[in-house]
Amino acid sequence: MNYTQPVYRPPYEANTLLLQVTVGCAHNKCTFCTMYRDVKFQVEKIDQVEKDLQEAQQLYGNVKRVFLVNGDAFVLSAKRLKEIAEKVHHYLPEVEKITMYSSINNIKHKSDEELAELAKLGIGDLWIGVETGHGKALRYLNKGSSIEDAYEQLERLNKAGITFFYGFMFGAAGKGKGIENAEANAKVINKVKPLGIVPTTLSPNEGTQLAKDIADGTFELATERELFEEQKKTIELVDVPTYYMGIHIINSVSFDAELPKGKQGAIDRVNHAISNTNEAILDSVPERHSI
Ligand code: SF4
Repeated sequence: MNYTQPVYRPPYEANTLLLQVTVGCAHNKCTFCTMYRDVKFQVEKIDQVEKDLQEAQQLYGNVKRVFLVNGDAFVLSAKRLKEIAEKVHHYLPEVEKITMYSSINNIKHKSDEELAELAKLGIGDLWIGVETGHGKALRYLNKGSSIEDAYEQLERLNKAGITFFYGFMFGAAGKGKGIENAEANAKVINKVKPLGIVPTTLSPNEGTQLAKDIADGTFELATERELFEEQKKTIELVDVPTYYMGIHIINSVSFDAELPKGKQGAIDRVNHAISNTNEAILDSVPERHSI
């Protein structure tokens, strides 16, 4: 299989076949992200995609799920995604779902008919890094779309029958704004009803605008205590059935839970972590691994 590094995939896709259809990220401008900073965005040649599928057919039996690499593969035109999906089903007929990362703008550039057609081809479970439902924080993060866009485009996915996961970051609104961020995220989640919600935690990567703004005091990171409280508040306010998929090690306390059934258990886990954390750490901003 042909991969151009770096390759990222959600932790939950650890057992999924990764198929490269793009290199890098077409947006590559988020304030906090360095994931693909040094890679030029490219669309993988369709002949290479086909070769990889032939190889996968030889190497693996009974493939049920394919993750299209890389940072925002849903940026591809509906025509190209349809071509790829048809080839996937041709070489790997047992595939039930074709998933990938998507931005809100990637959805915007497809018609309702195109989205419905992609859903029929098994494209779904999109991993969408909305990052925050907080309008001001979202502008700062420079995702290239607004929260109004997110509401509109995620509803379009629902109408088309394309399932998705809502990615967001604790601490995205900065110090003192954790509860506001929790309320804003819960509002979006309750409206658009994602299959799962996938939190990570805002952290400064070297060389980003975020790191510069922290250094010059323009942006202040939330303390550990605030992050815990934000995590609890988010879980408390989500009132639609969804999966809390918070296993990323960057989070203050990592776990997953089925909501609303597991709500109290999830809140208890955060409370347990708070009571087991030293006061000085709770009031500090500990260094975290980057995403
Ligand atoms: S966060 Fe996602 S969309 Fe933004 S630059 Fe990084 S990979 Fe691209």
